[in-house]
Amino acid sequence: MLYKIRDEINKDYDVIIIGSGLAGMTAANILGRNGHQVLLLESHNKLGGFATWFYRENREHVFDISLHGFPVGMIKTCRKYWSKEIAECIVQLKDVRFVNPQFKVQTDFTKEHYTQVLTNQFNIPLETVTAFFEYLASMNFYDNSQLTNRELFEKFFPGRNDVTRILMEPITYANGSTLEDPAITYGIVFSNFMSKGVYTFKGGTDYLIGMMKEELLKNGVDIKLQAKVEKISIEHGAAAGVIVDGKTVKGKSVLSNANIRTTVLNMVGEEHFSKDYIEKTKAVRLNSSSCQVYMGLKKGVKIPHIGDLIFTSSYPTYDPAKLLDIKVTSRTFSIYYPEETRPQVPEGRVAIVSSTNCLYDDWKKLSPEEYENEKKTMIEETIHGLEAFLPSIRDSLEIIEAATPLTVERYTLHPKGTSFGTKFEGLDISMNLHKNIPGLFHAGSVGIIMSGWLGAANYGVIQSNAIESYLGSLKGN
Ligand SMILES: Cc1cc2nc3c(=O)[nH]c(=O)nc-3n(C[C@H](O)[C@H](O)[C@H](O)COP(=O)(O)OP(=O)(O)OC[C@H]3O[C@@H](n4cnc5c(N)ncnc54)[C@H](O)[C@@H]3O)c2cc1C
Repeated sequence: MLYKIRDEINKDYDVIIIGSGLAGMTAANILGRNGHQVLLLESHNKLGGFATWFYRENREHVFDISLHGFPVGMIKTCRKYWSKEIAECIVQLKDVRFVNPQFKVQTDFTKEHYTQVLTNQFNIPLETVTAFFEYLASMNFYDNSQLTNRELFEKFFPGRNDVTRILMEPITYANGSTLEDPAITYGIVFSNFMSKGVYTFKGGTDYLIGMMKEELLKNGVDIKLQAKVEKISIEHGAAAGVIVDGKTVKGKSVLSNANIRTTVLNMVGEEHFSKDYIEKTKAVRLNSSSCQVYMGLKKGVKIPHIGDLIFTSSYPTYDPAKLLDIKVTSRTFSIYYPEETRPQVPEGRVAIVSSTNCLYDDWKKLSPEEYENEKKTMIEETIHGLEAFLPSIRDSLEIIEAATPLTVERYTLHPKGTSFGTKFEGLDISMNLHKNIPGLFHAGSVGIIMSGWLGAANYGVIQSNAIESYLGSLKGN
């Protein structure tokens, strides 16, 4: 059932899930479907976490925040753990473009086409390209290799910054990866995309989350929105429930979909963990954040097909630090053609979202006046950047707004507005949480590989299995 805001929760649960990101919701759906009593608590007034959207002008304009592209694996995950109807809405984005001073490329982002581009346009021998892809495919999470992305690219394409750019830049945009991150994270994410290209959800995020909500309710999951969990209760060293709105709700197990650092350090508290685990948790680095500019076109305005995703940069070379700079030189435009992405909305408007990776501290340190000015500059430069593809776009814009890392932090409660959770070391902390406190689990963006729509949803699957084993072990006692 869907609790109303003022409803009191008067039940005990098998599982209490804190947060309704894709990981939290996917775990809730599986556990509810398998007959467990599940409570899903979300601090925001809607489900989805980063899988979110906003409307303007009586819903005439709709903007997706994180629906830019995910790997084909999402179809299987949705079919298996959600529904056939949801899986059937996932379609390929066939037109991905790169425009920068080093090259122009139009691709469907598959291994086959990348191989052609790397051999024909970048003049890399086919054997090298094949060896590179084979190496990525052979990379194993359990190998514990220390190889960094920088070393990986130097190994196969020494001195070729342009090749590094086409291979790495989309992944840097996708999850904030840098050249110093472990190559295994790149290998997994890039191989996932390269297997069959980039996919999107036809109908938009609001449509998807609406379908997921129906599915959760059908599977008996209790949902309460605007319910911010303050604390996780620990009794006799094990998870025993949560405190929400000042009231304790009892649960045999708890799954946190909130940030891993917040979960351990704030919601549970240092006193419940070993010194070593706390030290390691404190050392977990957060990922970078995002700025976005949302542009809604006037009614009836049609634009030519300029690509679905355009990775554009005016910076001469690939430089991950520059991708994070507040003085933006690189951005990704996602173009939402209404007939392709929102067929259910009659006369839907074209929406264009520009995304840029950035650093929270650069925005946080600004005075209110500087902040507003910086936002205005970002908007102006984004329109200017878009004019390179659509010269008369300025006159067609009806809505234009921007979000910064401070916006991300406000809406998702993620520290420093991190949009892709933590760096690699966060995965270990997350996966070992239940070994420190029985019955307490974490699922959600960590370690780069468990972030993004597919990574988060799949982590929800993995942790729902672990929770079922734990609940089974309680029965056995
Ligand atoms: C700008 C941007 C663009 C992106 N683009 C893409 C993309 O194109 N493709 C892709 O695959 N991924 C993309 N992502 C990443 C992707 O959206 C996320 O990795 C994924 O949705 C995260 O899911 P999650 O399960 O980790 O939870 P989150 O989405 O982080 O949700 C966590 C939820 O927990 C709730 N919560 C936190 N604390 C509490 C509390 N104390 N009590 C109750 N509730 C709480 C929050 O309100 C939130 O709803 C993008 C992200 C951003 C920010």
